[in-house]
Amino acid sequence: MRTLVRATLSVAATGWLLTPLGAGAQAVPPAAATQQTPQTPSAPLPRVFLFATGGTISNRTSGGGRLTVEELIKSIPNLDRRAAVEGEQFSNVASGAVTMDQWLDLGRRVNERFKKDAGLSGVVVTSGTDTLEELAFFLHLTVRDPRPVVVVGSMRNPSTLGYEGAANLEDAVRVAADPAARGMGALVVLNDEIHSAREATKTDARLLNTFNSRNYGAVGTIFDRVYFFRKPLRRHTADSEFDVAAIKALPRVDVILTYQGAPGDLIKAAVDAGAKGVVSAGAGAGATSGTQGEGISYALEKGAFIVSTTRTGSGGTGTGGRGGTSRRIGGDDLQPVKARILLMLAIATTDVPAEVQRMFREY
Ligand code: ASP
Repeated sequence: MRTLVRATLSVAATGWLLTPLGAGAQAVPPAAATQQTPQTPSAPLPRVFLFATGGTISNRTSGGGRLTVEELIKSIPNLDRRAAVEGEQFSNVASGAVTMDQWLDLGRRVNERFKKDAGLSGVVVTSGTDTLEELAFFLHLTVRDPRPVVVVGSMRNPSTLGYEGAANLEDAVRVAADPAARGMGALVVLNDEIHSAREATKTDARLLNTFNSRNYGAVGTIFDRVYFFRKPLRRHTADSEFDVAAIKALPRVDVILTYQGAPGDLIKAAVDAGAKGVVSAGAGAGATSGTQGEGISYALEKGAFIVSTTRTGSGGTGTGGRGGTSRRIGGDDLQPVKARILLMLAIATTDVPAEVQRMFREY
């Protein structure tokens, strides 16, 4: 069940700031830090809305259950200087337990929240980190508003010494509240870095600096203020054609890995089980192995889409396709799991192969 909470901003005297120079950075008490304070006492704080979905950021392991959205908001350091935060408990589960229908629901709710609240600066979504990049890319493609959606999690849980969830949340709120984040699409914020949802990926099972954007790098960082260095060029959010209000359910699309001697019957099985598309996480620039070619021919005969991607983690397979009518689509440089999300939305929107290939060029 969902609950809506408003933060009580009662931490005015407790905030600490870092001096802005990296080398000589040191903690200083708030009284001495007034020059770095971005808000004057009379300036209204930007407003940010938080959807909490669960994950390690809210999962106390040593008893006590999961942190609620209210507890998460109260845990944000320096909240009185950052933003007025309201929140909703969307779910409180591991990221892998969130269903595709819940994704659609969340996409609709973020859109509705922006539509009915013109004064809102941005939205923050907490998520488990395991599939965080997938949820972030889904929101990047389906929230049709220029205001930022910042997806955040943590690697350490609230029962652990060095829990970084509260600091990451503060950073996420700062980014969501920053006018410079407008037009940047959905962003992934962890470990002081800002990544575009299109490129962010979890690269390590345990380390705090697990998220990066492979060869492309972060789009920004957070220190004494929010810094952006570059802007995503591909279509997203306000420029997106994907309308979650009109999509009843996402079609089944599976990802199948290439490895030496891989059998094509896994692709056949996916299609026979109802997959409308298969993303091939191919070797190198999209090569298959074993009898996967036979599986792909079978899938195409049955009317399924095949999107070719690379399992290497970076680089791409091109977007040439095999001609206007072929359902064999080039997935470009999207990670296989992200190509799956774009393909699900594409198939939910059109059955025309040239249109699907266009989407892989544009998004
Ligand atoms: N198992 C967790 C999840 O994805 C991991 C995390 O939050 O870091 O929900």
